[in-house]
Amino acid sequence: MNRKKWWIAAAAVATVVLWGVLILCLPTSPLSLWPQLQLRLNGQAAEEVAAFHPYQDPGATARLGREDLTAKITVTGNVDVTKPGVYTLQYQVQTGEEDCRITRTVTVVDRDAPELKLKGQREMAASLPSLFQDPGVSAEDRCDGDLTARIRIHRRVEGDRMIVTYRVKDTAGNEATDQRTVLIRDTVAPEITLKDSGIIYLPMGSTYQEPGFTATDDADGDLSAAVRISGKVDSSRAGTYTLTYQVSDKAGNTGTATRTVKVFNASANPANRVYLTFDDGPSSGVTPQVLDILAANDVKATFFILNYSDDKKPLIQRMIDEGHTVGIHGYSHDYATIYANDEAFMQNVYRLQQRLLEDFGYHATIVRFPGGSSNTVSAAYNQGIMTRLARRLEQEGFTYFDWNVSSGDASAAQVDSHRIYANVTESLRPGRSNVVLMHDANAKQTTADALQDIIWYAKGNGYTLLPITPDTEPVHHGIAN
Ligand code: ZN
Repeated sequence: MNRKKWWIAAAAVATVVLWGVLILCLPTSPLSLWPQLQLRLNGQAAEEVAAFHPYQDPGATARLGREDLTAKITVTGNVDVTKPGVYTLQYQVQTGEEDCRITRTVTVVDRDAPELKLKGQREMAASLPSLFQDPGVSAEDRCDGDLTARIRIHRRVEGDRMIVTYRVKDTAGNEATDQRTVLIRDTVAPEITLKDSGIIYLPMGSTYQEPGFTATDDADGDLSAAVRISGKVDSSRAGTYTLTYQVSDKAGNTGTATRTVKVFNASANPANRVYLTFDDGPSSGVTPQVLDILAANDVKATFFILNYSDDKKPLIQRMIDEGHTVGIHGYSHDYATIYANDEAFMQNVYRLQQRLLEDFGYHATIVRFPGGSSNTVSAAYNQGIMTRLARRLEQEGFTYFDWNVSSGDASAAQVDSHRIYANVTESLRPGRSNVVLMHDANAKQTTADALQDIIWYAKGNGYTLLPITPDTEPVHHGIAN
């Protein structure tokens, strides 16, 4: 390049620098004279803006000699700041003879990192790094949308803590990171599982056999061999015994479990026996008839009563005086109330026990669960409550009884007395405790009607009819909630 051309080139560069981009439009007719139409961009010919930030077009200026024609500029094209990309804006101005155009490119760039959102706590704990359950994390980018699937997770253990790092990049390369700290500390106690976890009934004089157990810890694994058992079962004495199982893990957390063993007096249970039981009374209509029939046959039975009005007191006094067992069905029979929680049930038992003690000096310890221990209605109010209540009753000095012979007298409002008789007599079995479920509420006249025949059948077939006592061999349903 010679010296003159250099000078021209330098002048052109200086013009661009000073004026931004300037276009001198050539006259459409070579005969036209100066002044010439000038169109100049304000700002840069190529601009870059961040996505989701407002873009303000700096515009352009048009001039013809001293005349300002800026107001005559029209702009075409637009910039969508919500979508990264390259946009072109075109500025145009026209006079009678000249048409002048100039363009600007605007590049929208995603400069914002995605947003990471940790679920759960920022500081957590786990017994072992491998036992950490990550509650998860999500990533959202304003331009790319949901980036959760692209998150990379890195775990690093430093001493007694684990640092979990989450990273994610959007398509533009913006990166977000976040961290969670997990304290590695074993705070979870081992769990002992007893085989045959219900109450164990042992006839007096027989040997207690441990049904077995397992113990597992989330950090230490199988600890069954380390379990220690305290407590003893003396099978030569009737009573309720508690065995306690204990095991500790390396971190010193201790798990415990208890088992209830009840030794009952087997000699108090002759071979063929029938225990007649009457629930839901006393009633002024049916209970006196039942008592009369029992008295006439010299048979003792068991009444599982509900709370009573004062005018029923003579009936309960009669039960006691005539050698029957007064058992507790409950102060109330309302499932929603009594199965709401463990305390509500125990109060329902204790309240009736207390009243019987005050009114008659009678200490009632035999209980029948409303609905039986196998009822499934209680689960609707409190899942698992029957397992706890069965154990708690026994541990607090009560004995509960279900039945293995149902008279079916509650299967309809009024069941034919022949049907009741057939139900009972067909289900009696020699060589066991036959606990017969019947009802003496006012509506159960046909139960009273069937009673005499049932007694004759039982006596005629060699059964002994007895009241239930704490020594009676238990008859229990499987607990089903
Ligand atoms: Zn009942």
